Formats: sequence, C-alpha cells, structure tokens
Amino acid sequence: MNFELSKEEEEKYQKWLAEHDKTCPLHPRKAPTAIGGRITFCFTPTGLGVAAGAECVCGEKVNLTNYENW
Ligand SMILES: [Zn+2]
Repeated sequence: MNFELSKEEEEKYQKWLAEHDKTCPLHPRKAPTAIGGRITFCFTPTGLGVAAGAECVCGEKVNLTNYENW
C-alpha cells in the first residue's frame, strides 16, 4: 500500500518541521551526520481512514491526521 500526505497534512507537517527545527537536538545544524532520513512518516489505516504521523530521529512526534477528511 502506498500513502501520501494530503495538502492539509503536508502543510501541517511543514509547520511542525519549521517549529521543531528550532529545538531539535539532532537538527543538521547541530548534528551534520544526521542529515537525510531524519523524519520518518507513518501511516496507520483505521476503520475510519488513514492516520498520518511523522517522527523525528530525536523522538519528537507529530500527528498529521486531517480528521476533517474522514
Ligand atoms: Zn528532532
């Protein structure tokens, strides 16, 4: 199965990332070796729709699910 972020979820992700980059201990600015593959996306199919989330390698997570689309 292949999942993609909706436009709203993509925007939510970009906002979260911009905020998170200010505080992330593993941001490439502070940890250049961590560049690439820093963010992992996870999609969880449920009975109502697909829940989308993203997780940074530092452990910070964000729920991107746009429940209005369900
Ligand atoms: Zn992080």
